[in-house]
Amino acid sequence: PLRCSGDATLTKERTLAMIKPDGLVGNHTNFIQNTILASGFTILNQITLQLDQDTAKGFYAEHSSRTFFPNLINYITSGPVLIMVLEKVNAVSDWRSLIGPTDASKAKVTHPHSIRAMCGVNLERNCVHGSDSIKSAAREISFFFKKTNSAGENVSEHDEL
Ligand code: UDP
Repeated sequence: PLRCSGDATLTKERTLAMIKPDGLVGNHTNFIQNTILASGFTILNQITLQLDQDTAKGFYAEHSSRTFFPNLINYITSGPVLIMVLEKVNAVSDWRSLIGPTDASKAKVTHPHSIRAMCGVNLERNCVHGSDSIKSAAREISFFFKKTNSAGENVSEHDEL
């Protein structure tokens, strides 16, 4: 067989992307999905959901002690979100690069071609989410999409990947 010393780096990864309520309200969905596909990602699965308070708090559990947490929960539950599983080599960090810095108003200056710069508003209303590590990606994907347990039974709510 052909061998290449860089094989390990060609392993595909999955990450969780979300178009947040301001992204949907602002009609940025087509632009964002076209950018995702043009950047070489495959959209493996997607679902539009209205998050309830408990689901939002579970998803953002790591931020529960932060002062911005109550506002974040109000914002993320203010309307539907579009959740996607993206796949590509280096998906986690490539999607983070494509979305740009957390603060969309600063991104407009420092990363003007990033999705948050083009579609977001400010530090809170930044139009998209992206998992920040391979570990969070695994947690976030199984948080929203069906996973099978060792007995082959579905253990979470939505469509299987
Ligand atoms: N956020 C906020 N105020 C802050 C920091 C974050 O409202 O001071 C919101 C923002 O929508 C952000 C989300 O909380 O995307 C999660 O914050 P995190 O620091 O994980 O940023 P991200 O990983 O999304 O860039």
